[in-house]
Parts: sequence; structure tokens; C-alpha cells
Amino acid sequence: MEFLKAVTAREALDIINAFPASLHTEIASIDESLGRIIAEDIIAHENIPPFSRSLVDGYAIKVKDAQGAKETNPALLFYKGEIRIGEETNATLEDGSCIYISTGAMMPEGADGVVMQEYTRRMGDAVEIIKTTHRGENIIFTGEDIKQDSIVLKQGKRLTPFDIGVLAALGMADVWSYKKLKIALISTGDEIITVDKKPAPGQIRDINRYTLANILRKTCSDVTFVGITRDNPEDIREHLNAARESNMILVSGGSSKGERDYITTCVEELGGTILFHGVNIKPGKPTIFASLWGKPVFGLPGHPVSCIMALTRFVLPLVRRFHGETRLQEKRTKGVLATNIPSSYGIEEYVRVEIGYDDTECKVTPLFSKSSVISSLSQATGYVIIPEGKEGFEKGEEVVVYYFD
Ligand code: AMP
Ligand code: MG
Repeated sequence: MEFLKAVTAREALDIINAFPASLHTEIASIDESLGRIIAEDIIAHENIPPFSRSLVDGYAIKVKDAQGAKETNPALLFYKGEIRIGEETNATLEDGSCIYISTGAMMPEGADGVVMQEYTRRMGDAVEIIKTTHRGENIIFTGEDIKQDSIVLKQGKRLTPFDIGVLAALGMADVWSYKKLKIALISTGDEIITVDKKPAPGQIRDINRYTLANILRKTCSDVTFVGITRDNPEDIREHLNAARESNMILVSGGSSKGERDYITTCVEELGGTILFHGVNIKPGKPTIFASLWGKPVFGLPGHPVSCIMALTRFVLPLVRRFHGETRLQEKRTKGVLATNIPSSYGIEEYVRVEIGYDDTECKVTPLFSKSSVISSLSQATGYVIIPEGKEGFEKGEEVVVYYFD
């Protein structure tokens, strides 16, 4: 496949986006749904709260009865008992009276405000109110949080802890979600050893296995590590075959067009098709995308930073789509560059940056380092994209920073 020429980042994404997805759904407990994508619109079948409640400890009143009340000119109301939390009330408030109410307790009929206890003085059967209360003050009304029959969560949303709180409020202990993608990881290289070993001269520990797996786990993928293959075709084919049951295969290392880089030939020998080999980006150029047994296969560069950039730019959008997620783009913010970033024309370049917050300004400092430097990723908040047709950015320019998410 020597003749496959490098594609642009845009072309690579178009090819990836055209790969057909088949989505499957299952019921999952909300206790185990953090980060999963919901496969249905969630429609509220009831109002939340189901009854109007007080937000504070105080007195339920008719606000007109304490109009203009202040410390030096209190309003005097009749004390008509108490409503406790967790109890149903049938009480109806009459003019000129008040009822003590606890935080979260059910509002009595006829009351249209709650005055906090701090602004009252109880004197036997009377209560002095020393502050004017506005209509609706300190009350959360029926359906004010969630309206019955409204759509509260849209299909394709990744569930946050807050979304799970919404489901809990509605009494939904389970939710339909898309099945977790089964992703197989393979590391390649004669020099690569497992983390528990001490490297002999010339050997290095497997980093990519861990960075890839942990980013993918954040997308709620089900990640399996197949193993480390040596740089020989039999071993590589064996590992690819062992990954056959997964929905997606990621191979790190051995993806450039060197003599001992066998990924493309092995994929083809097993009946697969190479869809691109090489993308005009830096770092991450030696990226392979292929179809094997109807599944997407990525060959990612071995250098840890290049590997993560290729994952971030090309693999994650596909993982999101295969999970049924509506949002396909990275999260981003804007900031002002602290120094120039030079770049060569004709290549899309990714520069890792750190964001510092200087009073109100979001200050973006580039972290210049080689593509094998894993510690630079550890320090980075995100990265800046320098488009193909641009020779860098200048100090003071506003740039978009993409988060590694
Ligand atoms: P390759 O893409 O196989 O040519 O590898 C490029 C560089 O990345 C080489 O220096 C490899 O030793 C290194 N490398 C490859 N795979 C890994 C890995 N899993 N962890 C850390 N470094 C790696
Ligand atoms: Mg290698």
C-alpha cells in the first residue's frame, strides 16, 4: 500500500464519518449509567416537585398581609399552627394569619409567600413579621423544576451526574442506553515491554496501552487489552484475530511506512481494506484507518503524543458516533496566546497548551516538546489547532483551545 498518499485531516474525517455504524440498546441501572448515552428522549411523567413546597423554615403567609413590614413597623399575624415536612396538609390560610412551615414541607392553600424565620418574632398566638415578602418568595411551585410531559433529556446525550439526578427525581431507576462499544487494544514493537518489567537497554515500557484505555473508558467503552505483539506478521495477525469479537480495534505502533511496519499488509492479508494511510497532520501523521471484518481498525503512531492526538482527532469522533452520542465535537474554550506559535504551512498542526487564569483573561501558553514526551500531555490543559493554510499564531491573538476529553 506504499502508493496510498496522505490525506488531509478533513478528508480523513470524511472517510471515518462514512463508516457505517450499527447501534444497539439495553436497559441500564442509573447507578451504572454515568457517561453512557441515552437511547430515548426522557419525558417527564409527573411534575417535579409534585406539590408546591417551602424553600426555607419560616411562616407561610399571604404577602399582602405583610406589605411594607419592617423592623420598626412589623405586621402582626395570627399563628395558625405548623406544617411538618413529609406530611400532607389540607390547611387553608385565612387573611391575617400565618402557618409555621419547615423547609421542603407542603404549602398550605391560600399562601403566596414564605417569610424566613429570621425575619419573624413569635409571641404566643401572634407572629410579628419584620420584612416585606414578595409573591412567590421562598416557594418552589408544582412543576417548577420539571414540567409534566416536557422532554427533560434528549436521546444521544451523555449522562452527567446531574442528568442521573433528574432521572432519580422522576423515579426512573433504569434507562435505555446504547450498548458500550467493545474496543480491543494491541501494542506493537520488539522494544515494548509490560510495565512490571525493568527495561533492558533498548527496551521501553508500554505507555499507549494505558493512555488509550483510560481515555476510552471515559467514553464508557468496554476496553480489552489483547497484548503486545512483536514486529512480525504472524504475531500481528494472531493478535488481530484475537480481537475479532470486538466492535473496534486500535493498534499502536508500527503504523508508519517503514520496513518493519506490517499493520497494513496484515490487515489486507486477513481480508481487510485500507481506507487511508497517513494524514497530513503533526503530530500523528502515520495514522491508518481500515475496515476489517466490517469493523473499523485504527493504526495509531507509537509515539505517545502522536498516538493520543490521532486518537483525539480521529478515533474519538467515531467512538462517539458508535455510541449514539449527538455531540461529536470536542469541548473547547477561548484564550489569549502568551507567546507566538510558529508552524509550517501545508500541514495541520496540534500544539499542546496550558491555560492559566490571569484575573479575567484566559492565558494560553504553548508547551513545545517532542512527540514522544508523555509528560507534556500530563501538563497540558488542551491543544490548539493550527490549520493547514496558516503559518502559526502570534502572541496576543485569541485562539480556540480544545480540551482532551
Ligand atoms: P512506531 O510507531 O512503532 O514506529 O514507534 C514510534 C516510537 O514510539 C518508537 O520510539 C517506539 O518505541 C514508541 N512506542 C511505540 N509503541 C509504544 C508504546 N506502546 N508505549 C510507548 N512508546 C511506544
Ligand atoms: Mg514500532
